[in-house]
Amino acid sequence: MKIDLTQLLEGKVSELAVEDFFTPGDEDAAVPHGIKLASPMHVFCKVKDNHGCLTLTASAEAEYETVCDRCLSPISTSLSFSIERLIESKGTHITADDPDFEDEDDILHLVNGCVEIGADLAEAFVLELPMRHLCDEECPGLCPKCGKRRADGDCGCKFEKEIDPRLKVFQKLLEKPQ
Ligand SMILES: [Zn+2]
Ligand SMILES: [Zn+2]
Repeated sequence: MKIDLTQLLEGKVSELAVEDFFTPGDEDAAVPHGIKLASPMHVFCKVKDNHGCLTLTASAEAEYETVCDRCLSPISTSLSFSIERLIESKGTHITADDPDFEDEDDILHLVNGCVEIGADLAEAFVLELPMRHLCDEECPGLCPKCGKRRADGDCGCKFEKEIDPRLKVFQKLLEKPQ
């Protein structure tokens, strides 16, 4: 996703706001297996010129589909995240020593008056994804015997009570014919 900064660089405006939609491509951070974007990410991008220092903030909303980690029911959910970047431009030479932007990754480079934020958005999305997805915090998962969703009601499977292995020897004794 390219942001054209020409207006800002020419001094016509001191602030730029861009709203756009973005779908990560093959060259971007891979969306994990089992996560499928339902639609392109909705991105609001703002670039400010603060006395020659250009900062970019982009907030994005991504709707995606996945399955519950416990019962495999489909889940539709969304994630909001944002990125903040410094733009290396006319005169401003930002080095990795800059205390606010220690990481070289926090700096965007100008190419023909534009900056590319697609790769950064895709990466931020992947990093912000929750570790697990549940249809419900209390999701009881699947029956280990028949595979039915336990939330749908009792499947009728019978489970033998777990017996303490130390007691098994006594059980054997009891089972012996008299
Ligand atoms: Zn579930
Ligand atoms: Zn069952």
